[in-house]
Amino acid sequence: MPGGGGGALGATTPLVRRPGVWLLALLPAHALVLALAPAPTVEAVYGQALFPIVARVHAALDATPISPGVTLGVALLLLVLGGALRTTRSTAPASSAWSASPAPTWSAAATASIGSMAGGSTAGGSTAGVQGGASPSRARRFLRASAWRLLVVAAALAHAFSPSWGLNYRRPSVGERLGLVEAGGSFGRTADRVVRATNAARVPWGRPDLAGLERAVDEAVQRTLRELGLAEAAVPGRRVRLLPPRLMAVGGWAGVTLPWTTEAMVDPAIDPRSLPHCMAHEKAHQAGFAREADANFIAWLSLVRSDDPRLRYSTLFFVVDLFVDDAQVPLEPDLVADAREAVAIQKAVQVPAVRSASERVYDTYLRANEVQAGIADYDGVARLIHAWLQRHPETLPE
Ligand SMILES: [Zn+2]
Repeated sequence: MPGGGGGALGATTPLVRRPGVWLLALLPAHALVLALAPAPTVEAVYGQALFPIVARVHAALDATPISPGVTLGVALLLLVLGGALRTTRSTAPASSAWSASPAPTWSAAATASIGSMAGGSTAGGSTAGVQGGASPSRARRFLRASAWRLLVVAAALAHAFSPSWGLNYRRPSVGERLGLVEAGGSFGRTADRVVRATNAARVPWGRPDLAGLERAVDEAVQRTLRELGLAEAAVPGRRVRLLPPRLMAVGGWAGVTLPWTTEAMVDPAIDPRSLPHCMAHEKAHQAGFAREADANFIAWLSLVRSDDPRLRYSTLFFVVDLFVDDAQVPLEPDLVADAREAVAIQKAVQVPAVRSASERVYDTYLRANEVQAGIADYDGVARLIHAWLQRHPETLPE
């Protein structure tokens, strides 16, 4: 509450009156609620009712000239550093009040920080405690205050993750929603079909017109989601921002959708043939398809049926690698040359150590969000394509 006076949240403030402590203490309860929430309820309440509203709010933020994610990140950083600085200034060096308090310095900095983050003033931290009368250096007090604030901000972001987007992991998968879980038939025949279609779809790829491609991609994704009855959170015209080149490609990643703003971003340093597929993949994430296999499948189905030959080739070129080992049909020489060029582009920007470290982190993140396959979930698109083609063979010619 503004103007409440920092002294009210001094070192003697009970823990129950510290919002930062509550944010941290409630994390296990938050995780428990997520673990127990039945998927049909999440789908009905969150997927069909709440997330579509959230997605429209996020879509309104797309128009801002500066990325909402960057704005949020800078604001949180200023909150942490500015608050820590105020706390450091307000915790004056040793006095009788300081030595009289039993609370450790860490708690003092934390308490003042919490007061500020809760809307209160941090100016009243002069009663904060330091044991023994020997005050720590200003730099140490600043670091401790910053560390506490970072912890509280991380807890706040963790709580915000689920309502802003993360609950989409708890919804039924695309395979379950479209009846693509059980797939009979020969995977080898599907592989032959995909390789033949990719050979036929190959188009020379010059310098891409990214704005034109994005418009075409958006129309294709929106049309597909409507046709499938999955468009509850799809907002036409959401933009895909370009990251500074190599920022994500250095770790082998093509793009990202930020969970707190659902803004989509792609790295222009990746092989340009993959850009339309990656844009469509991120747009599927924006529409609430959190799992990687699902986003890849929505991207594939949207682009493979497009009238634009660049979109068809982009998505088939992206997925063909998952089928070529099971196919009897070989890739055409031009396509092999494209694949070699794509690998060369990838190798030129990737740093293997960054790639393996970031893959481990993302694998852990996916498993923590109920994606059992972890990072291998990306390749689950092959199973979905196979199942789809069993039911809709007209999508690709024999
Ligand atoms: Zn993704």
